[in-house]
Amino acid sequence: MQTLRDVLSENIREGELYEPLGGDRVRCYACGHCCPISDGQAGVCKVRFNRSGTLYIPWGYVGGVQCDPIEKKPFFHAYPGALAYSFGMLGCDLHCSYCQNWVTSQALRDPAAVSPPMRVKPEGLVEQALDLGAKAIVSTYNEPLITSEWAVAVFQKAKAAGLVTGYVSNGNGTPQVLEYLRPWVDLYKVDLKSFDEQHYHQLGGRLQPILDTIRRLYQMGFWLEIVTLVIPGFNDSDDELKRMAAFLAGISPDIPWHVTAFHADYKMNDTESTSAETLLRAARIGKQAGLRFVYPGNLPGMVGDGENTRCPSCQALLIERYGYRILRYHITAEGRCPSCHGSVPGRWASSFEGQIASRPFLPTRRDRLSARS
Ligand code: SF4
Repeated sequence: MQTLRDVLSENIREGELYEPLGGDRVRCYACGHCCPISDGQAGVCKVRFNRSGTLYIPWGYVGGVQCDPIEKKPFFHAYPGALAYSFGMLGCDLHCSYCQNWVTSQALRDPAAVSPPMRVKPEGLVEQALDLGAKAIVSTYNEPLITSEWAVAVFQKAKAAGLVTGYVSNGNGTPQVLEYLRPWVDLYKVDLKSFDEQHYHQLGGRLQPILDTIRRLYQMGFWLEIVTLVIPGFNDSDDELKRMAAFLAGISPDIPWHVTAFHADYKMNDTESTSAETLLRAARIGKQAGLRFVYPGNLPGMVGDGENTRCPSCQALLIERYGYRILRYHITAEGRCPSCHGSVPGRWASSFEGQIASRPFLPTRRDRLSARS
């Protein structure tokens, strides 16, 4: 019987994000690990491997697809109400014990993570996204950086069809991968998990490549939003939250910061869920640091006005939300506040055209990808 590793080793092609190191060794720079890889070995992510001096990378499958409101990614300043057709492959360069997508991200590390891949072509994904009414197509669920060649192949078709493209990522990038992505990726969400080197070490990464990536993403003109899952006892101290907020505000006060509530998942089952009070404290810290848009998330209706977007100049209500639902929308066609005409940072449609879904859904049997690939 074929193992998952056997199946994945058939769905490959040569990568573009690597260089020879001499002999049969190569260096991959799809993510911040920059693995040197010997012949016959795989990188830390386990999905990119060296065979006789050629780096092979995942190709031609998805580990899952789902239709999400764009607010779930979360993007709050990019086409509110839009449907984001979301796909992922398998594998990750980190191994967070609280991962909410562990079934796909840890597929090659954890035998309990079982998510059979579906073979598909880029045009099959784009066609289904358009059929379902999506405005955006997003690489998510596993870490998209490690499968960037595939994402770019999908996004090239997607942009030709008029779709907006996005990454939902841990931000463990390199200058090379960001240059590679810049022509094809419009929106970029980074999960800033901590501001502590030791914490990142526990998750299998380093803090500095993530900070460098956040700075570069902003300078390169991606639309950038940041999420921090606030985990009691892990990253919720005033000191750590203040350092995160100061770092982001130092890049730009216009970067939206989502401070979202943790609930027990995967191997982190003995930690309490994040309270609304903790989220509101984190949001206050973000505002005090100078960030103009801070959103306490994952606790709909429990954080007062925190889910809404207000004009940073005159405080007029611009977007009212409940969870992923858009209740009111008042941004002008030019992306301005209708009261004071101040510019609101983001990527805005010329008008709000309603919301296809305010909660995630799976494509129906009739829409199955296998029929199109
Ligand atoms: S994607 Fe990252 S973890 Fe995987 S081989 Fe490349 S550098 Fe290593």
